Amino acid sequence: MGAALEIRNLHVNVAETGESILRGVDLTIKQGEIHALMGPNGSGKSTLANVLLGNPAYEVTAGQIIFDGKELLEMEPDERSRAGLFLAFQYPVSIPGVTVANFLRQALNARMKAQDPGSKGIPVPQFARLLRSKMDQLEMDHSFAGRYLNEGFSGGEKKRAEILQMATLDPKIAILDETDSGLDIDALRIVSEGVNSLKGPDLGVLVITHYQRILNYIAPQFVHVMFRGRIVENGGPELALKLEETGYDWIREKYEVTE
Ligand code: ADP
Ligand code: MG
Repeated sequence: MGAALEIRNLHVNVAETGESILRGVDLTIKQGEIHALMGPNGSGKSTLANVLLGNPAYEVTAGQIIFDGKELLEMEPDERSRAGLFLAFQYPVSIPGVTVANFLRQALNARMKAQDPGSKGIPVPQFARLLRSKMDQLEMDHSFAGRYLNEGFSGGEKKRAEILQMATLDPKIAILDETDSGLDIDALRIVSEGVNSLKGPDLGVLVITHYQRILNYIAPQFVHVMFRGRIVENGGPELALKLEETGYDWIREKYEVTE
């Protein structure tokens, strides 16, 4: 049995103001499945990603998140990552003087030490081989590993670093919030090709996006639409196609009145 991320009846407020954002979200992502979470701006998609990440700006007032059989909300953010949940940072920071390769090795070592306190981490030559094989799989130029992390990176290069991090950490479930980077078609293509070349029975992916066009590159098996803090529609690729043709107006009309 593969791992699953199960979100059950999740209710979330903004911690500071108590404003209610998520109002009963149910969503299950299993290893091997590709899901897309769509919805108009302001519907709560990034809030969900932030809660999964453990952002203290949000308060969970009801519901549960179970990851691989454990209560995710009781785990520290780094424990979540060690357990095999990958959350791409939406606004990656620049770390002066740290190369992409160094950053990835440190991240991998931290995870190995957490899993086995006696671990000395991955030896440099073995890491170099691993990184090269991941870059080949993603069709990335090897010189990318020597670049300083995020220093002067374009949107596409940030996405490349993110996908390479995902490939290196080999998560069970990955959450990619593409809302704000979705403007750059290059970045979109990098993420999509990355997901497509990494997908398989051991990887579950949730791609969060306002834009339907990412779905031209990634073929999700499951499509969910969030509106006003709830998932209001669930379907397959046909749902994404419908949204591409008609936009979100029918969602607003159908669900606005019931509020
Ligand atoms: P989406 O990603 O779907 O565009 P968000 O999750 O970013 O939506 O936001 C959902 C709603 O919650 C918006 O109305 C937004 O203004 C509000 N919101 C999100 N985070 C905060 C916050 N930290 N403080 C106040 N309001 C917030
Ligand atoms: Mg967002």
